[in-house]
Amino acid sequence: MLRAAIALGWLAVVALDPAPASAWGYQGHRVVGSIADQLLKPAAKAQVQQILNDFDTHGIDLRKAAPWPDCVKSVVRHDDGKFHYEVDPDHIEFEVPCTPFNSTRERARIVDYAARNWSTCSYTPDGFERGCHNTFHFLDVAIQRSYVDRGLQGTNPHDLVAAIEAAIAVLQGKPIPPPFPFSIKDRKEALLLLAHFIGDLHQPLHVGSVYLDGNGRLVDPDVAHKVDPDTETNGGNAIEDSVAVPFQVINLHHEWDDIPTDLGDAATGELVDAAKSVPPSQGALESWPAAWATDTLLVAHDAFKGLVFKPAQPPAPAKWTVTYDNHIDYLQAADAIKRKQLAKGGARLAELLNTIWP
Ligand SMILES: [Zn+2]
Repeated sequence: MLRAAIALGWLAVVALDPAPASAWGYQGHRVVGSIADQLLKPAAKAQVQQILNDFDTHGIDLRKAAPWPDCVKSVVRHDDGKFHYEVDPDHIEFEVPCTPFNSTRERARIVDYAARNWSTCSYTPDGFERGCHNTFHFLDVAIQRSYVDRGLQGTNPHDLVAAIEAAIAVLQGKPIPPPFPFSIKDRKEALLLLAHFIGDLHQPLHVGSVYLDGNGRLVDPDVAHKVDPDTETNGGNAIEDSVAVPFQVINLHHEWDDIPTDLGDAATGELVDAAKSVPPSQGALESWPAAWATDTLLVAHDAFKGLVFKPAQPPAPAKWTVTYDNHIDYLQAADAIKRKQLAKGGARLAELLNTIWP
């Protein structure tokens, strides 16, 4: 559930190192994948097993697959235009969930995917060029909205919902819906993406966002028909929570990427039970990604409830600071929301695959 670390390591990243930050929050993705693994019916399970495992990868299930699109964030483009997978020596922990994919051929797959999806849009959230594929992980719909719809600020043709729709199409053997030129070369790539993006779709700060004026008051970008880049919160990545851990900068997005530590990085019985009681999705499969995004947007209303934003004072690295009515209460509420969202993510990933392969 990442998109996080950009602001977390802000000082070092901005001053010295234009390399993209990588895999935070892989535990959440593994939990979602692991729940889905347990809820797959035999036909879907066989397909998943067959697609994810070939001459290079063995024993890959949805749990192991789910962090893959964050591993792609270790790909950088050099000045000569060539792409390379680079392990960040300061953050070797980013590689932990990527080890199932460190064979020569799997690394080449990661680099090839990043290269094919690098320049299809421009994405420079912190002044450095990031590959377009980074945008596939999120939407930034204003929390004043109660539904997700194309055309709202914070949506675009290469956002999370569009990326999920593209991956589903590939798994179904259908053409990727236009207009955006996603490049997903085969069913393995599509499934690696889907296992991750369904997790992202259930992280409230990957879907709902606050838009602020210069003083930190909420503004409505859909009424103004514009977004001020100077005050953008980047899905909470530009909002610093200095209360959470004294002397350490944690941004609000990252705080939501972290999952309760007792969950570890696999499904617990509690979460599998919760997943089994998630109501089935209504309507045609094609309508599910947007409907799930709407559901998460409503959860994001709660994630932002009671928060007050102020411009950060130098030398604070982020643009904004956040204060809470009661920080302990907020963290407790967040803990409960996260458990529910992880269960929903796992249930819906399984539901989707069970529907594609009945
Ligand atoms: Zn992600």
